[in-house]
Amino acid sequence: MKFASEFRDPALAKGLLAEIAKLAEQIGATREKPVHIMEICGGHTHSIFRYGLDKLIHEGIEFIHGPGCPVCVLPRARVDECIEMAERPEVIFTTFGDAMRVPGSKLSLLQAKAAGADIRMVYSPLDALELARRNPGREVVFFGLGFETTTPSTALAIQQAAREGLTNFSVFCNHITVPEPIKALLDDPYMMLDGFIGPGHVSMVIGIHPYDFIAQDYGKPLVVAGFEPTDLLQSVLMVLRQIAEGRAAVENQYARVVPEHGNKVSLAAIADVYERRPSFEWRGLGEIDASGLRIRPAYRAYDAEEKFGIGYAGKRAEVEEAEGCACGAVMTGRMKPVACPQFGKGCTPEMPLGALMVSSEGACAAYWQYGGARAAE
Ligand code: SF4
Repeated sequence: MKFASEFRDPALAKGLLAEIAKLAEQIGATREKPVHIMEICGGHTHSIFRYGLDKLIHEGIEFIHGPGCPVCVLPRARVDECIEMAERPEVIFTTFGDAMRVPGSKLSLLQAKAAGADIRMVYSPLDALELARRNPGREVVFFGLGFETTTPSTALAIQQAAREGLTNFSVFCNHITVPEPIKALLDDPYMMLDGFIGPGHVSMVIGIHPYDFIAQDYGKPLVVAGFEPTDLLQSVLMVLRQIAEGRAAVENQYARVVPEHGNKVSLAAIADVYERRPSFEWRGLGEIDASGLRIRPAYRAYDAEEKFGIGYAGKRAEVEEAEGCACGAVMTGRMKPVACPQFGKGCTPEMPLGALMVSSEGACAAYWQYGGARAAE
């Protein structure tokens, strides 16, 4: 298949749905006793709702939405730290647009900008680098945020800054990794997961083998998937086939994009610039060992935490989540967004209480966008 429309072919989707239904019956999946499949990535959550797959699929299949939205898992304290830096008169703080409306404990970046902080939206860390070249008298900080998908581009910007000897560019590094939170979820005795839809974009960078432990140590199938409706349906079918055959393996449905061993150039840039933090705090999941990256000492001059004595290099503030916010439970698959008491009441896209309502990959945003006020009722 060459065109996106072919991956949205209704006849193909119907055929896959029929095969899924047949297998679901065969393994005894029912509405009361469903097979729980976690789609790790928020992009998949949005595709599932955009194409109505949750309604079309056999009632014995339940999608559990995972923690794969990097903006959503950021604790409020990290947003506060961004604002603390942005409020310094010498700083130009740069960020992807996705993070602008995420609430901190008092303000979002958008509100801080309205209050006078010099916060600018960029499309790439290279835009931030260009700002640093053009403003030698200012300190340009880039909000490095995201899973392995965006980690390499931040690394390349740091390498470029080092080559040019730029001294007024730094990165507030909040890059995180996918396998560690999945391990944390699997170690949680209350999680009832039967299989996983693996992230497509992250796997383009890291390949499929970092997930081997999920099949080998926990006996759960994982299928790396694309983002079109037939990609997702085929991936569910592949997970169910493994369950029906009593096996667990890591399989690659998205082979047209995801190389088995990942992207060598990206992996080399990651290895050169970052090292693992001993642990990193996730919203809703707490501290997870080795789940975050920090900038290696060789590139310390580009580490905003070191430069401004903030975050893990400073005195970290204890910041509670907003009262009544169920973001943690939603992000770990324990609660559906519509079950959050704030959904559509204290929390809407216009007045968000949690990041999941404003991020383009947030589960609450997906429910709102494709179910909206109806779901709130
Ligand atoms: S509705 Fe708002 S408060 Fe509730 S889980 Fe979603 S983002 Fe968090």
